[in-house]
Amino acid sequence: MKIGVIGGGQLGRMLALAGTPLGMNFAFLDPAPDACAQALGEHIRADYGDLDHLRQLADEVDLVTFEFESVPAETVAFLSQFVPVYPSAEALRIARDRWFEKSLFKDLGIPTPDFADIQSQADLDAAVASIGLPAVMKTRTLGYDGKGQKVLRKAADVTGAFAELGSVPCLLEGFVPFSGEVSLIAVRARDGETRFYPLVHNTHVNGVLNLSIASTQHPLQKLAEDYVGRVLKALDYVGVLAFEFFEVDGGLKANEIAPRVHNSGHWTIEGAECSQFENHLRAVAGLPLGSTRLLSPVVMLNLLGDMWPAEITLPDWAPLFEDGEAFLHLYGKRRAIGRRKMGHANFLGATTEDCLKRAEAMKAKWLANGRSGS
Ligand code: AMP
Repeated sequence: MKIGVIGGGQLGRMLALAGTPLGMNFAFLDPAPDACAQALGEHIRADYGDLDHLRQLADEVDLVTFEFESVPAETVAFLSQFVPVYPSAEALRIARDRWFEKSLFKDLGIPTPDFADIQSQADLDAAVASIGLPAVMKTRTLGYDGKGQKVLRKAADVTGAFAELGSVPCLLEGFVPFSGEVSLIAVRARDGETRFYPLVHNTHVNGVLNLSIASTQHPLQKLAEDYVGRVLKALDYVGVLAFEFFEVDGGLKANEIAPRVHNSGHWTIEGAECSQFENHLRAVAGLPLGSTRLLSPVVMLNLLGDMWPAEITLPDWAPLFEDGEAFLHLYGKRRAIGRRKMGHANFLGATTEDCLKRAEAMKAKWLANGRSGS
């Protein structure tokens, strides 16, 4: 079976790493000459709106999936004429636009911050008057890793904020005084069978995911499954979906969904019986789903560009290999610019505390040698 993937970054690469042993082949459509998935399959180097190359992809593969959600709706509609596409065009339409996404949560009775659609500075002024400050303003589309958003704390922050975010359609959200951020990775098969991984606690640094901490018995697991299950069913979803929540007052408020495999699910490669990548492929290919059971407490640490001593040079991984229960995943990106995601490491162990301690110690060591410490 040949799978077409829109996007050729690390998520596409890890899909191929999971699917190759299952006898699958891959073609990635990505305009970047150095798309890091190209080592694992065919690279069709073209823009996402290039109909000739989209047609070529559709002709070559059995089905198409995505590694990011900001794909133009027309691209999905075009491909869907020739080849099955999972998740569906409708799921992507909702997930790529924060207004549609939050409106769906509201319709399904899933708690979410107060929100308002902003098409002008006047809309923003009116929304601030009703939602209040502090609040968070986000572009409706194309935002990721904290980009395309601004926290409004005082009246002066509101002045000119619409222009500051590029005068594009935005959403204003009430600020959630959360005690933690968690995500639930779920997978739904073509026949509707649904499985959930254990709820994961996530920490961020400057809007970029830093650590994901997975352990069983989270008290909010069932509640999260209920909310995520509603969305999966409403969208007749096929594949892996990641759902991010704020933990607040002992409950959950929905933040956002990603219609794809997700950074906060990378721990599943060694930490779960069947990884998010394999389960996504099983779902879209119409195969039975794999077990989402946690094998051991596990912590995932993102390896960002600032941990690299200099561009191209690699940090010294020896301490990680000496650890024995730590697993390195590098994405094959050649340039470590800023806080770019270069790889991740999964730390397994007897207790969550032990995994966390080792991950934090390793990170401190790399940062001390990296550019931020030099
Ligand atoms: P997002 O791109 O929506 O995931 O937002 C990036 C990060 O900004 C989140 O992980 C939160 O730490 C923070 N954030 C986003 N929305 C809110 C909110 N309504 N209230 C408080 N913090 C938020």
